[in-house]
Amino acid sequence: MTRNKAILSIAGSDPSGGAGIQADIKTLTVLGVYGAAAVTCLTAQNTRGVRAILPVAPDFVREQIEAVLADLPVTHIKIGMLGTGEIARAVGSALDGFAGEVVCDPVLTASDGHALLANEALADFFAHVLAKSTVLTPNIPELERISSTPCSTEEGILAAAEKILKEFPNLRAVVATGGHLDPQRQTIADFLCLRSLRQGVVARKAEHPRIRTANTHGTGCTFASAFAACHLLTGDYEPAFFKTVGFMDSLLRKSAALPMGHGNGPLAHHACSAPEP
Ligand code: PLP
Repeated sequence: MTRNKAILSIAGSDPSGGAGIQADIKTLTVLGVYGAAAVTCLTAQNTRGVRAILPVAPDFVREQIEAVLADLPVTHIKIGMLGTGEIARAVGSALDGFAGEVVCDPVLTASDGHALLANEALADFFAHVLAKSTVLTPNIPELERISSTPCSTEEGILAAAEKILKEFPNLRAVVATGGHLDPQRQTIADFLCLRSLRQGVVARKAEHPRIRTANTHGTGCTFASAFAACHLLTGDYEPAFFKTVGFMDSLLRKSAALPMGHGNGPLAHHACSAPEP
């Protein structure tokens, strides 16, 4: 029975509905999972870019999380934009005592280049949030930044993931999405790097055709939320990974020609129907 379990998204708000908590809640809903949300920052943005960011008071971010955890049957927390080091610390302290999965999408910059985590906040993000997470879902630029390892090849990606798993012993899996690797390639590979007690790190690869579209705003948020939902539904990392990759492929296809806004368009979550439970 998964209908009575909940996922809490801790993320920024995107009023245009493409990324952040809006993308997270839509994703969880179409996958048939109950979604709750604690807001870290308000942003003023549309498909053309981010205009302004208003961080929520860190104590109030913690209060939102504590209120939800005190009441709802939350088995998974998904973390997105944090904005500042103070908010990262507040989120970290609210995670203390939470025994479920913590899926962390390392939101560092928006596609227009706007910083969504202040540079000086990286150390707080590592010490207070990443150190308490169980799953990390970076894209290639995020993986390179977090691991300080070049990731232009498959070997580089796996070495970077392995390095992160060594540095953050609470992490059980790094799920790296390969869309940023060589834009000329027709095929994209995503990777699941899993900590294994007997074999060190085990890697799984999922290949799928590249879908040429400008509608990619919120794909990172959607992928991480879908992974959390698929993990809740399947109870394991490997089936969750392959289910998530399949869901993203189908969602990107449905979204490819959606005319919404004048810039980097959103995904068409509303064109999905819920899979069989
Ligand atoms: N979270 C918020 C609130 C955002 O505004 C953005 C991007 O603009 C993101 C996360 C990251 O979006 P993506 O999923 O495209 O990486």
